[in-house]
Amino acid sequence: MTGGETVSPATPRSPAPPDGLAACPCGRSSGPSPQRRPLPYAGCCGRYIDHFDTTPAPDAESLMRSRYTAFVREQAAYLLATWEVAHRPAQVAFDPGVRWLGLEVRAHRRLDGERAEVEFVARQRMPGGRAHRLHELSRFVRQDGRWFYVDGDLR
Ligand SMILES: [Zn+2]
Repeated sequence: MTGGETVSPATPRSPAPPDGLAACPCGRSSGPSPQRRPLPYAGCCGRYIDHFDTTPAPDAESLMRSRYTAFVREQAAYLLATWEVAHRPAQVAFDPGVRWLGLEVRAHRRLDGERAEVEFVARQRMPGGRAHRLHELSRFVRQDGRWFYVDGDLR
């Protein structure tokens, strides 16, 4: 007889490379087409997340990607700092057990000098293993030279 405790199977995890050298969660790659390589975090979204004061994301797509990465890495301060103040929540909660699987940016439209839209699909695995696709059209605004997330519509 067992003691009645349910033992959950170990979650397989790939060994983590040193922070900053691992591929950026946003999936951005660089290089000519056949040899495209994923950018490391430090050379991609980390430039903006870790240096928010001096290096803001230069366009709405980069901001969107860095916010996705901040969700993956649970960096609430960056999410709040890049949220347009009138739409900014008091805090950001991260769903325990949700794993982010990847990001696909479908479109980036500059509407005028101060407004842009980014359409993306983010894939998640929910606790229990169910996969979920978050398809959103996000709105961004530029204020004082910095882009901010405003809000978004689920598709
Ligand atoms: Zn990135």
